[in-house]
Amino acid sequence: MTRKTNPLYISSRNTLQHVLNLYDNFLFDCDGVIWLGEALIPGAAEFIQLLVDNNKGFAFVTNNSSNSRNTYLRKFAKLGIPNITKDLLYPTCYSAALEVRDQLKVPLGSKIWVLGDHGIEEELQEMGYTTLGCNDPKLDHLDLDSCILEVDPDVKAVVVGSTKEFNYMRISSTLQYLLHNDKSIPFIGCNIDRTYPGPHGLTLPAGGSVVNYMAYTADRDFINVGKPSTQFLDIILQDKQFDRDKTLMIGDTLYTDIKSGNDGNLGDGRGSLLVLSGGTKLKDLQKVIDGANGSGEHDLVPSYYIESIGHLAKLIEP
Ligand SMILES: [Mg+2]
Repeated sequence: MTRKTNPLYISSRNTLQHVLNLYDNFLFDCDGVIWLGEALIPGAAEFIQLLVDNNKGFAFVTNNSSNSRNTYLRKFAKLGIPNITKDLLYPTCYSAALEVRDQLKVPLGSKIWVLGDHGIEEELQEMGYTTLGCNDPKLDHLDLDSCILEVDPDVKAVVVGSTKEFNYMRISSTLQYLLHNDKSIPFIGCNIDRTYPGPHGLTLPAGGSVVNYMAYTADRDFINVGKPSTQFLDIILQDKQFDRDKTLMIGDTLYTDIKSGNDGNLGDGRGSLLVLSGGTKLKDLQKVIDGANGSGEHDLVPSYYIESIGHLAKLIEP
């Protein structure tokens, strides 16, 4: 497969129409694409409506594991994007639960240790698992004599994702499970994202910082259930019955979203669209293009780019 090292800027209605003709299905990242924090990106709702009007398929694939699908449903409704249903949502807290059940074949009812925000706990519990750790109050204060540092031998997997409650007790208790029994309990990491674009122009630490902290501390690797994992992309394509050759990934992060679309060979090798409304700026894109032209490594270079999906909606306005 050859991939062009110069992405196409979608600058006209004709170019957009060409793109809409090429793809039947659209996979959206959320943070930096649909919203920034609690603010909807202008025009995002209009672009999604445009896809609905044109009978296009779509789904939301976010590496954010903090919120469950139910929480995302409320967020979409609050931001004024109607008719989003649970089957369109793939946050990595849900993909972690799918991994535990479908790939690792952990029997329902088993105990799973969680280091992360509530979304992971909610999705595992909805699937039928018992969760330990997470926001247990015993983890809030340092107490190295606490019984919570004793390994429960019935725990069958450890899931780690972003948490706003990262502290020494949570690190220490999770470490016991990751080291237990010659490091044999499966270790699932919800994503590898270093940062995400927060409110007020802030760059904030994302789940990958927590996952890699634990991987480094325990000196072991993890199963990545977020983008750019092609295994997870395969599960979504199958679940949604999306034709790989007719699917476009839209995201704001080169090493997760764009790499996922490229590594997954979406759109017959041209299946990634970068938006500049999140963490990646034009100069970052240029740096990657320059690097690709030098090294021949094209997996981070998008097929297309545009300021935001709101700009796409504007191009098509009558
Ligand atoms: Mg993003």
